Amino acid sequence: MRPFITTKRKANFYFHTILSFGHGIVFLLFLLFFCLSCTAPKIATTSNALSNNQSPNFVVIFTDDLGYGDLSCFGNPTIKTPHLDRMATEGQKWTQFYVADPVCTPSRAGLMTGRYPIRNGMSSAKRVVLFPDSAGGLPAEEVTIAEVLKQKNYATAAVGKWHLGHLPEYLPIAQGFDSYYGIPYSNDMDFVKGSPNYRKEGKKDPNFLANISAYNVPLMQDATIIERPADQNTITRRYTEKAVEFIKSNKNQPFFLYLAHSLPHIPLFAHPDFIGSSKRGIYGDVIQEIDWSVGQVLQTLRDLQLDKNTIVVFSSDNGPWLSFHTHGGSAGPLRAGKGTTFEGGQRVPTIFWGGEIKPGIIDEMGSTLDLINTFAALSGTSIPNDRKMDSYDLSPILLGQTSKSPRVEFHYWTRAKLHAVRSGKWKLHILQREPINYGKAVKLERPELYDLETDISEKYDKFDTEPAKVAELKAMIAAHKADVADAMPDNLAARIEK
Ligand code: MG
Repeated sequence: MRPFITTKRKANFYFHTILSFGHGIVFLLFLLFFCLSCTAPKIATTSNALSNNQSPNFVVIFTDDLGYGDLSCFGNPTIKTPHLDRMATEGQKWTQFYVADPVCTPSRAGLMTGRYPIRNGMSSAKRVVLFPDSAGGLPAEEVTIAEVLKQKNYATAAVGKWHLGHLPEYLPIAQGFDSYYGIPYSNDMDFVKGSPNYRKEGKKDPNFLANISAYNVPLMQDATIIERPADQNTITRRYTEKAVEFIKSNKNQPFFLYLAHSLPHIPLFAHPDFIGSSKRGIYGDVIQEIDWSVGQVLQTLRDLQLDKNTIVVFSSDNGPWLSFHTHGGSAGPLRAGKGTTFEGGQRVPTIFWGGEIKPGIIDEMGSTLDLINTFAALSGTSIPNDRKMDSYDLSPILLGQTSKSPRVEFHYWTRAKLHAVRSGKWKLHILQREPINYGKAVKLERPELYDLETDISEKYDKFDTEPAKVAELKAMIAAHKADVADAMPDNLAARIEK
């Protein structure tokens, strides 16, 4: 289904661009790929799969506001996640994996496009994320993972929270997805005035449950509202059923499923089967239901014998929302949480599973920004070459051909400002936001430097003892700022006029 001309226009533009860059470059890329295939047996496996016309399937399971310390396999003692733990044992657990921004909309824009949100117009100094009164969304000229995989006719589905624009021209079906089922923005939006104050009630009771009618959030099928308010008590279960149905009905062709749970963003809801299932209150119950959901997806892939040809990624869009106390998650040993550029805001628990992935624990750097390039490499498709990309191909480390990640640096952006930079184990902060909630960003009188290998919690400032490293990171900041000077203007802040 191609309901919007924008998708077609982008596809034409994209293929034209590839051709216009000349056959020479394309030939060189093929030659390089061929040479690598000859020397590295694991790549030959991928290459064989491609020659057999068995392009791998991709599933991204993306949670909302799940913290670094919220899974058993990342150290949580009172939330049980047996399915994710098994996934981590069978696959790769990444301990230093970053999202492109510490809040929803720009983080998702980074995942979908492989570009820092400052480049794609989804970072704003005026507004944090998209709201129900927003006029904008991810610009049509941005190329999403779904559009990249459409080069090889992948079946594509988005299930869950989108938050890259709720107007028809910005919905998933206008961005390369064949279908969409979910809520178009956060589950706490469209708050009904006079309903109980979640922040207040939640602080009193770790098991506080809101009424679904307090949040008049729409549930959509493609571009149509099919339920309002969405029954959030059953939303995780229904997303799961849709995901399983999509996998089953596309088992004979390559597919890409983006399953973006709208939880554990507050307000928290769980199916009655999971209420009271954890020792951690409703927050733990929600995570345990998401864990069940992961189990359903992985078992479906095993049952259909697709597990060896499907790469599944599990991650979160940003760190825990700490101001909601027990209704927010835990960043484990990391400092601060959602909304900040400390590690707790942007380092997220991430697992890769399936296909030819070599099991292990990876303490190298990676990012959701890297998914588009990695999927392109594994599927034999191409990412755009007419714009600046911030995406690395992680497939060699996933397949065990190397132990080193190509990503050795990361830039911490939020609200259109660069707050910090990481190079190797060193991280330099120049701006900071207060650790709880969305306080004003403060320009530091002098930068702070942390060694993330010996000081994961960013406690011990090394500014005084490492002047050469400070100078090097300052130079990186200056170079990166210059590199994004041609970024798209703010497409996030515009409001619908009333
Ligand atoms: Mg979020």
